[in-house]
This record gives sequence, C-alpha cells and structure tokens, in this order.
Amino acid sequence: MSDMHTELATRLTRYCAIDSQSDAASRSAPSTQIQLDMARLLVQELTEIGAADITLTDYGTVLATLPATAPGPTIGFLAHVDTAPQFNATGVKPRVIRGYNGGAITYPDDPTLTLTPEISPELGLKQGHDIVTASGLTLLGADDKAGVAILMTAARHLLANPHIPHGTIRLAFTPDEEIGRGVDKRLPADLGVDFAYTFDGGKLGEIEYESFSADGATVQIKGVSIHPGLARGKMVNAIHLAAKIIAALPQHTMLPELTEGREGFIHATDMSGGSSQMTLHFILRDFEREGLAEKGDILRAVCAAVAATEPRAEITCTITPQYRNMRYWLETNMAPVDLARDAARALGLDPVSVPIRGGTDGSRLTEMGVPCPNLFTGMQEIHGPLEWVSVQDMAVATNLMLTLVQKAAR
Ligand SMILES: [Zn+2]
Repeated sequence: MSDMHTELATRLTRYCAIDSQSDAASRSAPSTQIQLDMARLLVQELTEIGAADITLTDYGTVLATLPATAPGPTIGFLAHVDTAPQFNATGVKPRVIRGYNGGAITYPDDPTLTLTPEISPELGLKQGHDIVTASGLTLLGADDKAGVAILMTAARHLLANPHIPHGTIRLAFTPDEEIGRGVDKRLPADLGVDFAYTFDGGKLGEIEYESFSADGATVQIKGVSIHPGLARGKMVNAIHLAAKIIAALPQHTMLPELTEGREGFIHATDMSGGSSQMTLHFILRDFEREGLAEKGDILRAVCAAVAATEPRAEITCTITPQYRNMRYWLETNMAPVDLARDAARALGLDPVSVPIRGGTDGSRLTEMGVPCPNLFTGMQEIHGPLEWVSVQDMAVATNLMLTLVQKAAR
C-alpha cells in the first residue's frame, strides 16, 4: 500500500472502532454523548497535524481551518461523525482485506453472512483493492467515517505541503446527520465559507446536487375510552381508525418498497398507542415541491375521510417541513458542481449526478445559503452488516479534494 492508502486505512479503522451512533429518540444535541468521543479525538488529531482555529462547538461540531496558501474562494468540507441508528454499531471490529481476490468475503463473527459481487455489484470492480469491512455483528460505519478519514488525510497532506496552492479551507465534522439534525442554525455563520461539499456519497465519480424534498407527518387519533363490558354504542377504538387510515393510503404506489429513481413516497415509520389514543408517524418524500405537496394532500384527505366516518373521534394531521431538494438553489449557481466535475475529470473519472433518495447535511446547508453538493467516498451497502469500502476508492476521493482546492485557487 502507498503512504496515502496506509494512512486512509489506519484512520478509517481507528474511527470505525469508536461507537458514535446517533439516536433519533434523544432530545439532546448532540443526540448521544458518545459522538463527542469522535469529536474530541478529531480535535486532538487536528491539533497534531497543525490545523488552525480548532473548535468544538456547543452543538457538537468540530471546526478547523487550513490557512490559505494562495488567493481563492473559501471552501468548506464536511463529514459526519455519527453512524446510522438502524443497525448495531457497538463493538465494531473493522478489518482490512488486502488485495481482494474477487471472491466471496466471509465474516468471523457471523458464519452465515457472505458478501459477494452478486450481492454488491460494485465489489466486482474492486479486484486487487484493499477492502474494509466489519466482522459480521455490526455495521462498519464507513458512512461517514470514510468521509472523516478522507478529510483528515487531505488536511494532513495540505498542511505538510504548503507549496500546494489553495484558498482558505474550512473543515466541519458534524454529529447527528443520520437523524437529520446535523446542521445547527449557527453552522452557516460559524463555517464562514463561499460554498462547501459533503464527503458522504457512495460510488466513485458520484457528484450529487439533488436530494429529496422531505416533510414529516404526525397523525393523532383520539377515540372514546370506556370499559369494554359497558362499551356498546359508546366506545370508539382508535386502533381501528388507525388501521382504516393505513388501509386507505396508497398500497400499490407511493411506497418506498415500490419506488425508485425520481419517484417519491409516503412511508409509515411507526405507530404507537392503544384503543383510546394512537399516534402515527410518516415521512413524505419527493424530488419536487408539487409532488411533495400532493403526498401531504393525500394523507390529509385520508385522515379527513376516516374522521368523517366517526364524528366522535378526533383525528389531526400535522405536516412539518424537514429539508428541500438542494437543486432548487444549486441550479441557479452550478459553479461548485462544475468545479467538482472538473476535478473528477482531471483524475480520469466520469462524473455522474444521480438524485439522492435521501438528504444530506448539504441539503439543509444549501437551503440556508451555503451551496453544498455531495461527493463520493466509495462506501457501499451502508447501514448494515455488509457495509464495505475500498481503500483505493477513498484515495481517489482524497485526491478529488486535493485537486478541487487547487483548481479553485487563483
Ligand atoms: Zn452519511
């Protein structure tokens, strides 16, 4: 392995071994204290490599500066330190499979698990690469510790080689991206950049500037509670009304499991309560404002129709905006996207822009006035036990950052 490969593999495995899972149910910021273990380590490592203005904000984001060596715009780079709440992230044992042979990868802690190019087609393109995986019981956390390792490796390289021309670079390591709370309202001002990039994408060459537009919805159903033995003509069971709402919503379209590409969905994420009261949560997603509004209208109409069948019940539907497609802002100024594409082409890559069926910290930042496309890291099969990343792909992403900052310098 080259020096850069060794550094990336060492950083990634060091970061992945630290449990920094976020928790949507927590109301604190950051949502879990363990994320500060990563934040504090990064403060220490940024100090060691000689970064300037290192701060750990009270909202849990680590900020640092790489001072300019040439005139040019101030560019931000972001990666998130939290890992996904959807799968076990405690006790991650990362390992590096050197010179991958193209065959099946097995897992020491779960013999039933295998990773093959059939399951993960990108893996078929990585023969001879050094592949990092977890051990079978946990996710790996390359999402987004691959991004963290890429930023740290590029930062160390730039600080050690001040003859490389670049403008002021700001680094931000955010918590709680996976639960949609990575961008504090103070972050745009604290970051202080002309534009920024998240390193939170997958496949080599992906430069993304479109994300979902997203709303959350809460449906509250209040029935009429009474002893079941005395209930005749009086009880209104909220569970039955919840079931009616679910049954009346689209079943053959507009579901995550039935949609892809540019199609949006209405997704029931959880339902809780009892016969007297029920709470249902939904997420609504679409790439366009009109499509998102339509999904909200459908949900409201279904709630109203079910409420009309039982006037004694009380049904409310509250829709809350979450984030918006960053294309709405980026299409008015494609310079940050074009700069990343130029840098990718200079590395011999064919840049592709696929709409993200999700959101990134960049979606919120862009909406708040900091244009912020998303760049590839190489991570694959994220949020589960088969998550993997190629060290060589991470090196290409690191070189993308190094090339991009030089191209931006005047
Ligand atoms: Zn991520």
